[in-house]
Amino acid sequence: MPQAENAAADRVFGASRIVYTAHRTGGHLLLGQLGTGRPALTASYDADNIFAKILRGEIPCHKVYEDDNVIAFMDVMPQSAGHTLIVPKAASRNLLDADPAVLAAVVPLLQRIAVAAKEAFGADGVSMMQFNEAAGGQTVYHLHFHVIPRYEGVPLQAHGRGMEDPGVLAANAEKLRAALEATG
Ligand code: 5GP
Repeated sequence: MPQAENAAADRVFGASRIVYTAHRTGGHLLLGQLGTGRPALTASYDADNIFAKILRGEIPCHKVYEDDNVIAFMDVMPQSAGHTLIVPKAASRNLLDADPAVLAAVVPLLQRIAVAAKEAFGADGVSMMQFNEAAGGQTVYHLHFHVIPRYEGVPLQAHGRGMEDPGVLAANAEKLRAALEATG
């Protein structure tokens, strides 16, 4: 942005202008505030988080979908039958430091998986969830979205508690893969 335009933008947003900028430092992404020179706002991206390990193929998952930008797999501690996680491959800690282009690309896939999951599991509805930082309920620090099929009158299980039987997860992954293939 030319300097005059930049100065104008600064005047418009003033001291409350919060623009996240991600910059790499030794494999970690840090969040900062543009134009303030102040230190990072929150913690850095840790490439050893569990989803980064799944993305690198270092630990297994019950995969339902993968393309160049995204992977989707069953949550091992489902809050309802068919609980699926959609994980962009790009490294970001959560929504707060994500590249807007990554977010724009993932939304149509969220829709596609929600529609397929509703069909695959005979659900009555679907809840989408996404948590940011510990205070916001986040427990794994790589951006992800929860697609949670909902059933009339059935409350959600607690978040992140109670491992599902691997056989059930495998069967659910298979059902969802089939529904995704059927919807093209
Ligand atoms: P968050 O609280 O960060 O939004 O959600 C993290 C989710 O990841 C939780 O729902 C939790 O059950 C799930 N999870 C944690 N560890 C693993 C794992 O190793 N594999 C899979 N597939 N899901 C996991």
